[in-house]
Amino acid sequence: MGPNMEAVLDQPVLVLNRLWQAINVICARRAFALLARGHASVVHHHRDDFRVFSLLDWVDFSRANPPLEQIDTVRTPRTTLRLPRVILLTFFDRLPSKELKLTRGNIFERDKDTCQYCGKVFPREELNLDHIIPRDRGGRTTWENIVCSCIKCNSRKANRLPHEAHMRLIVKPVRPKWRPVISLVLNNQQRERWKDFLDLAYWNVELEE
Ligand SMILES: [Zn+2]
Repeated sequence: MGPNMEAVLDQPVLVLNRLWQAINVICARRAFALLARGHASVVHHHRDDFRVFSLLDWVDFSRANPPLEQIDTVRTPRTTLRLPRVILLTFFDRLPSKELKLTRGNIFERDKDTCQYCGKVFPREELNLDHIIPRDRGGRTTWENIVCSCIKCNSRKANRLPHEAHMRLIVKPVRPKWRPVISLVLNNQQRERWKDFLDLAYWNVELEE
């Protein structure tokens, strides 16, 4: 394999679990290793349809539909393959058992960009995170103790408990039940490459309870 082939095999491939949830990005080299062992299938999206191919089927498909560009072309001694862009794992059912992370984005998501004191919706850059029980009074950084708050409410409450500031939460904050469907941070180039797929998957995957 020349240096060019190395570059092709370094291309990123999106990995889906059996629920068609994006769980990882790996290089094509690793993707082929999974395909060869039968641990994954190629997902190829054509018009509005997804098709799933075993490695052997993919070899046939590549023969009938040769890759258009060099960067999508994987040459082996025997045949020429199209580079898969998305693969579907055959075995590992679940998302990595990570809990939903307590992140700024996830808290905004849970609170629907709504100040939990005045109930108004704000652009994210105009929202703060508020520790209901302030940190210096023993308040912890947990789903139950952090809410979205607008700047006005945040400064009004200052370093007090809500009732001390005569304020009330509109909803009692809890840990969200949902889990991340796309637990990946994709860079712009990757997002562009998988956009059609992710857009379609967004509407078509079966949702978890
Ligand atoms: Zn507010």
